[in-house]
Amino acid sequence: MPLSSQNQDSPMISELRQDIVTGDWVVIAKARAQKPESFKKEEEASSKFSTSECVFCHPEETGQKKDTLIYYRDDGEWSLRVFPNKFPAFERQSNTVRHWTEGPYFGMEGVGYHEVIVTRSHQRTYGEMTVEEVAELVDAFRTRYLDLMKRKSVKYIMIIHNHGKNAGASQPHPHCQLFAIPVISPGIELELKGTENYYKSNKECAFCTMVNWELKEKKRVVFENDSFIVITPFASRSAFELWIIPKKHSPYFERITQREEWDFGEAIQKAMKKLFLGLNDPAINFYLHTSPCDGRDYDHYHWHLEILPRTSIWAGFEMATGVEVSTILPEEAARFLKKQN
Ligand SMILES: [Zn+2]
Ligand SMILES: [Zn+2]
Repeated sequence: MPLSSQNQDSPMISELRQDIVTGDWVVIAKARAQKPESFKKEEEASSKFSTSECVFCHPEETGQKKDTLIYYRDDGEWSLRVFPNKFPAFERQSNTVRHWTEGPYFGMEGVGYHEVIVTRSHQRTYGEMTVEEVAELVDAFRTRYLDLMKRKSVKYIMIIHNHGKNAGASQPHPHCQLFAIPVISPGIELELKGTENYYKSNKECAFCTMVNWELKEKKRVVFENDSFIVITPFASRSAFELWIIPKKHSPYFERITQREEWDFGEAIQKAMKKLFLGLNDPAINFYLHTSPCDGRDYDHYHWHLEILPRTSIWAGFEMATGVEVSTILPEEAARFLKKQN
């Protein structure tokens, strides 16, 4: 449905905006609008444990499983390591995935892989690390992805990062988690269907359309380099939501080049730094959305990273509708974040 050309200068009380990929609606309550500064997290007593108690600072002493990947610094100390999660949500048990039914219900064994990707520094968040360190993290994502995608029963690989207690991080030491699972999640299915429908109607990828529009308009672009843009999406689901999108059409994350790994690392580092500075180290979740690895073609899809700072707590309306009432315009959030360096 075409929207009129009304924009933030119009006297609307609130705006409903639609995501062109998923068709989801979001609400921006302009009458309740807040200044960007008011989203800053209040200071709290540091919940960071000392490094001597940290299970990720000393993985070999705290009973972590054997590394599946390790990187070293020039001085011979490790800089990044990947190992199976001690308390996995998915685990490899056999070569077959057991299915069962119970009357109208259907169930499946949680077969898969669940790994933890740990960078060396206990204190520094990704926004405080160097681009080189974050680019190494991206290289670890790709290396583990390429290995696990070949395994039987793996249909989808999800890479996520939780930062801060309010984002569900159980360990304060910066880390990502990788889940290689036998199913494609409903959120991904929705994006795959949405991009396929968009392609059929418009003969163009929805994300490429978005990238071209945002590069022309500039008002929602927070950062860009040769390969990526960082934007506050038009239909942001939460205040200060950021998406990192490859500029060229790319359905498959695992096919990025070495140059793009560096650029992606820089885009993550810059986005996280801007949120860290602008919102005073907020709790954050980010996750990679890429094509499934089930052997089918997804040439209409376009991989990207979604970053969601936890700036509000979902109440009844949000839980009931799945629609968040955001109190800042994405354009204003972009203006504010662009200045944080
Ligand atoms: Zn640590
Ligand atoms: Zn595209």
